[in-house]
Amino acid sequence: MPSPPSHLHLLSLPTPFPVGAVNVYLAEGDPLTLIDAGPKDEPARAALEDGLAAHGHRVEDIRRIVLTHHHVDHIGLAAEIVARSGAEVLTHPYNLPWLEDYVGARIRNAPFYNQIWDEGGVPEQIVEMMARASEGVAQWLDPLTGANTIDEGDTLAFADREWRVHHTPGHAGGLICLWEPLSRTLLSNDHLLRDISSNPVMEPPVGQGPRPKRLVEYLREMRRMAGLDPAIALPGHGEAIHDVPGLVRKRIAFHRRRAEKILATLDGERLTLWELTRPLFPRLSTGMDFFLALSEIQGHLDLLAESGEVEPTGADGLLRWKHRPMSKRRG
Ligand SMILES: [Zn+2]
Repeated sequence: MPSPPSHLHLLSLPTPFPVGAVNVYLAEGDPLTLIDAGPKDEPARAALEDGLAAHGHRVEDIRRIVLTHHHVDHIGLAAEIVARSGAEVLTHPYNLPWLEDYVGARIRNAPFYNQIWDEGGVPEQIVEMMARASEGVAQWLDPLTGANTIDEGDTLAFADREWRVHHTPGHAGGLICLWEPLSRTLLSNDHLLRDISSNPVMEPPVGQGPRPKRLVEYLREMRRMAGLDPAIALPGHGEAIHDVPGLVRKRIAFHRRRAEKILATLDGERLTLWELTRPLFPRLSTGMDFFLALSEIQGHLDLLAESGEVEPTGADGLLRWKHRPMSKRRG
């Protein structure tokens, strides 16, 4: 059984978020590389410094940071590390606007989300809660300019091995996994987590195009990564995954069960995004909870619309979803 490259070390950094600690990976060798950077928060900074010191390094020694996606628990400290070390940053082009101006990106995206919430019948008070939660996120990072880009098919050398970049949107539009074929190691960050199903976070299109269907992409990319037949996946949170195809089958089955629940909830009715989210997630409390639950249900509606099992109908400015009779489905 191949084992992951010995020059790759896990540094677990605490985060102030419900997900718990984030896994950052230190790749020794030339250039000294960090995969992800943790949130800008004192406990994370201290854990990073301690973790580096345990391997005989300092923040100032880091030469390169690879950022796997734009979420603050993964990128928050990157700007500070660059200021202290002069490290090069590599990430998918999708992530650049977020790295450079997180607040600006959020403000530019607000009309997109507001339209979805309006059509989805989401109450004003919930919309305000979500806006406040999203505003608060920027405190966990510093803006970062000058990152270089990597994309599907590129290769990177670190930890004494060659890694292939795979662009795997779903949890986030600019998410990349890194694949090392000799040891069959996949650095999967939030694309594959052992103990929790990652959220297919709703995101606006880049430029004019249609809204990306994140759950549809996510399941497709999960199958593609399982197809590499990894011996081990090293995730962004929690324990390593030793049975990637088994985990992917479990995730696909989980999403199918949730889709069945949505179909059962629709049962002859025409319901909005909000009317579907409420019964399926009755115990939400924070703005972030509501945002992730609405993203999840929208993801499932996209999936069911793609298979022809539901269709949207518009009236009075609201988008209502209905279960489509078998005879009208395509294919
Ligand atoms: Zn994430």
